[in-house]
Amino acid sequence: MELNDRIERMLEKVQKAPRYTGGEMNTAVKRWEECPLHFAFCFPDTYEIGMSHLGMKILYGLINREPWSLCERVFMPWVDMMALMEEENVPLFSIESRHPIHDFDVVGFTLQYEMSYSNILAMLRMGRIPVESRDRTEEDPIVVAGGPCAFNPEPLADFIDAFMIGDGEDVMTELNRVILRRKQEGLSRQQCLEELARLEGVYVPSLYEVTYNEDGTVKAVTPKESWVPASVRKRVVPDLNHTYYPEEIPVPYTEIVFDRIMLEIMRGCTRGCRFCQAGMLYRPVRERSLETLIALAEKLQAATGYEEISLSSLSSGDYTCLPELIRELMKRMKDKRVSISLPSLRIDSVLKESLEETQQVKKSSLTFAPEAGTQRLRDVINKGVTEEDLLEKARDAFQGGWSSVKLYFMDGLPSETTEDLDGIADLARKVIEEYFKVPRGTRAKGLRVTVSASTFVPKPFTPFQWAAQDPIPQIQEKQAYLKKVLNIKGVTFNWHEPYLSFLEACFARGDRRLGAVLRRAFEKGCILDGWSETFRFDLWMEAFRECGLDPAFYANRERARDEVLPWDHIDSGITKSFLWREKERSERAETTRDCRQGCNGCGLQRWKGVCAGANAGSV
Ligand code: SF4
Repeated sequence: MELNDRIERMLEKVQKAPRYTGGEMNTAVKRWEECPLHFAFCFPDTYEIGMSHLGMKILYGLINREPWSLCERVFMPWVDMMALMEEENVPLFSIESRHPIHDFDVVGFTLQYEMSYSNILAMLRMGRIPVESRDRTEEDPIVVAGGPCAFNPEPLADFIDAFMIGDGEDVMTELNRVILRRKQEGLSRQQCLEELARLEGVYVPSLYEVTYNEDGTVKAVTPKESWVPASVRKRVVPDLNHTYYPEEIPVPYTEIVFDRIMLEIMRGCTRGCRFCQAGMLYRPVRERSLETLIALAEKLQAATGYEEISLSSLSSGDYTCLPELIRELMKRMKDKRVSISLPSLRIDSVLKESLEETQQVKKSSLTFAPEAGTQRLRDVINKGVTEEDLLEKARDAFQGGWSSVKLYFMDGLPSETTEDLDGIADLARKVIEEYFKVPRGTRAKGLRVTVSASTFVPKPFTPFQWAAQDPIPQIQEKQAYLKKVLNIKGVTFNWHEPYLSFLEACFARGDRRLGAVLRRAFEKGCILDGWSETFRFDLWMEAFRECGLDPAFYANRERARDEVLPWDHIDSGITKSFLWREKERSERAETTRDCRQGCNGCGLQRWKGVCAGANAGSV
């Protein structure tokens, strides 16, 4: 029976068939035979999560825009589909043309979170592509990966042929051109990888050797040949107004996590929160102009019919012309009943005017992220917001007709004490008091305060990259304490199980030896680790034991200043000396100014013309 018939038969039996059927509005329908280069964009999680991801939409449109390249989407199948695929002997296929991923020239993964790594191995295996790079032949596709986790590529070094570091827009086309040459000019696999390594922002791990000290720390990561760059510098697109952004995006038939237009208003963040990896990796700040954004919003809305536009960035409240943008979008979208939402507001930057403007369209719940319960700890992490800021914005929100507020915190932050945990409950109580200060009759009914606490995971390229994560029992104790103190009427408390955060901490700062652990865990059946119904912590621990590695060495150990970190050969632009200085300031609970107020010398100032704010008012 033909592959397509077998797929159709499976789709009759599977739950949530729209995850696999394709044919959504605005998907690319390009003829396979007419495009010389075929790119399978693999999201290593389910359709609902992958389809909510902005980066995928950008790169999907960008690759398909070129007449010579075709991009199709591939998602991690859910367990029922995986079982059927095995039964029917169906390889992993793209949802547009249903070609097995092995037929593509490039198989690209996006690395958004560490706990998707086992899904990458599963997708390669289901796609009949050798899981380890060294086993791939001239017939196999080139397997590439990008995204924030590519900044520490080492745990995946055995499985990925080439990593793209930094902004993907420019390097993606350059990479595809090289891979097209492999096909058209007959470059060997090795020649192709060597050509890729010559591109700025591309890291080919097989061209580097890693050595270790006796204590298990990394001694050096050394290029195997003299021409191979000792350090791989991230790519930065200088001006978002002249960078591709899709004007139409696929609209799913089924419910997904973020089902709306995501308008990336700017990239990067100047705040310098010390726990935040994205804030460091996506520097410098680049804003899209008002005109560009309004034109994009209108085109995207017309092409999709969506009734919600989310203004997306790490810190949307910092966008220079936020009130003008909201006002203009509202004017143009009001008749179409399109609402505007701001997903990642920082509490000190929400202008009252913006609140009043947005509430004319839609009152969803407002999210604030104080991250820590006391001012001391907020200073340690450089979260430059005060309790007064939060309460004032909560008051504005309640007066503006909101009744639902979400507060995000982290537990296990460096130097955290019981007082900091008590501070979380105090803050929740004070927010409730603000609600009751608004006169009955003018405030919205149904107060809801949701407090969420996630466990701190130290990440590479942050001032906390040297820090130890709290061991699991200690985290559990803190969470039990929080449950007790947050037993307050009107408050719902959500927390994360610490097991996943522990593994995330291992892989976030892991070295190349973790490839063996990942392989072993996958062979034992670990997949879909981000889902509680499929997560098997016991099997992960067995895999570590069998590989002779201690997970606590990765998660719970403080690093010394002179230790070679597994990602030191990746150049994010931010210098290690700046990060160390920030770590020392955090130990003294000293804050560092937002670099919109003056350059703090993070390292990017060395890259000529990259950061517009560089050296202005430098300290
Ligand atoms: S170079 Fe200066 S202004 Fe630019 S991101 Fe770094 S600290 Fe901020």
